[in-house]
Amino acid sequence: MSLEDHAEELASDLGVDKEEVRRDLKNLVEYSVPMDEAKQSLRRKYGDGGGGGSDGTPSSKAISEVSTDDSNVTVTAVVLTSGRRSIQYNGEQHVIREGELADESGTISYTAWDGFGADLEPGQTMQFGNAGVREWDGKPELNLGDSTQTSVVDETLDVDAEVGGEASLRDLEPGDRGITVEVQVLECEEKVIDGRDGETTILSGVLGDATGRLPFTDWEPHDAIEEGASVRIEETFVREFRGAPSVNVSEFSTVTPLSESVAVADDAPRMSIREAVESGGQFDVELAGNVIEIRDGSGLIERCPECGRVIQNGQCRSHGAVEGEDDLRTKAILDDGTATVTVILDDELTARIYGGDLEDAREHARDAMDKEVVADRIADHVVGLEYVVRGSLSVDEYGANLNASEFAESEDDPAERATTLLREVDA
Ligand SMILES: [Zn+2]
Repeated sequence: MSLEDHAEELASDLGVDKEEVRRDLKNLVEYSVPMDEAKQSLRRKYGDGGGGGSDGTPSSKAISEVSTDDSNVTVTAVVLTSGRRSIQYNGEQHVIREGELADESGTISYTAWDGFGADLEPGQTMQFGNAGVREWDGKPELNLGDSTQTSVVDETLDVDAEVGGEASLRDLEPGDRGITVEVQVLECEEKVIDGRDGETTILSGVLGDATGRLPFTDWEPHDAIEEGASVRIEETFVREFRGAPSVNVSEFSTVTPLSESVAVADDAPRMSIREAVESGGQFDVELAGNVIEIRDGSGLIERCPECGRVIQNGQCRSHGAVEGEDDLRTKAILDDGTATVTVILDDELTARIYGGDLEDAREHARDAMDKEVVADRIADHVVGLEYVVRGSLSVDEYGANLNASEFAESEDDPAERATTLLREVDA
C-alpha cells in the first residue's frame, strides 16, 4: 500500500481532509516513524480515540521496560543531557535536540523533533506522554514530537546517572550528545573543506585532560579554541573517527576560556593488545609486547611525490609512473600473548632503531647493491626484544595498525608482566 492509499484510508476513517492527513503522514514517515505507528499517532491527533482496540493512551512504563516492540509509551524521567544539532531535511534546515533521559530503572536516548514545543533543561523531571519509540542501533530510543504531551513534574527522582553531561575525555563514547568538557587544546589547525554551502573553514586538532587525549573538529570556528588554551566547551557531541571517539563542536556549542590551565595526563592508558583491538580503536594508547617480525615494506622505501603512498618499482596506484622519493619506515609485528598488532614507525623512530639516518641507509643499500639490507638490520636490532609503544590505534578490514609516537625498549620486569597477562587470560 502506498502512502497515498494509507492517507486515503485514514482520511475516510477519520472524516478529515485527505491532503492534510497525507502531509502529516509523509512528515512522520520521513522522520523514520514506522507507518503503523504514524497512522496511530494521526488517529489520536484527529480524535479517533484509539489505534484499534485500546483507548489509545500509551501505557506508563519504567525506562528499563521500554522495548523496541513498543510503539508509544509514557515515561516520567529526569533530563540528563540536551544538545542541539542542525539537520537538513526536505531541503530545509531543522534544529533537533538529542540527549539522554533517566529514571530509577535506567537511561534512554531521545530525539526531540522541531514540532516538540517544550524546553528540555538538564535536571528537570518531566512526564512525556505518548512518546514514540524507535529502534536505534538495536536499542529503543524515544521520539518526541508534536503528538508528545509534556509536563514538568515537581518530583525528584533518585537516578543513578549524572545530570548535565559533564564528562572526562576517557568516558566519552560515540553517540554521546549534549556533553560538556573542560580541556586544554593541545593541537589546533585551520582546514578548508567543501561544505554544504561551498568552501568553509573548520578547526581540527587534539584536546587533552587529566584522563586522556581525543581528536576534535570545530565546525563553526570559535575564537577561544586555539593551541595552548584551556577551555570549557558546552553542548558538544561525540562521533566515531577511525574507531575512536572524536569531539564535535558546533554552532550551538558554548566555548568559555578558563583562567586556570587544565592539567593533561602525560601517560596514555596501558592496555593489553587484545583489549585495545577489541575496543575498535584508540586515539592514544600504550601497548607492550615482543617484536616477532618485521614486515615487507620496511626499511628504505620509496614514496610517490604526489600522494605520499609507498610505491613499488616506480609505480603509484593513483599516479602511475613517478620519480619516487626515498624514506624510512618500519612495520613491526608486536605480540603480547593476547593478540598482535602492526606497529608503524615513521622515519625518525626508524632511524633510531636502524642506527642511522636516510643518508646512511642509502649508502648502506648502495654498497650492498640491495635495499633489503636496511630492513634486515632493523630486524636484527629489534626482533625478539620487548618494547613499550605509544600511539594511535586503528582497526579496520586490513587489520590493527598502531601509528607510533613513542617506541622504547621495555624496562618492565618480564616476570611481572607475564603474571599480569596470565591473570587477564584467567579472568
Ligand atoms: Zn601517488
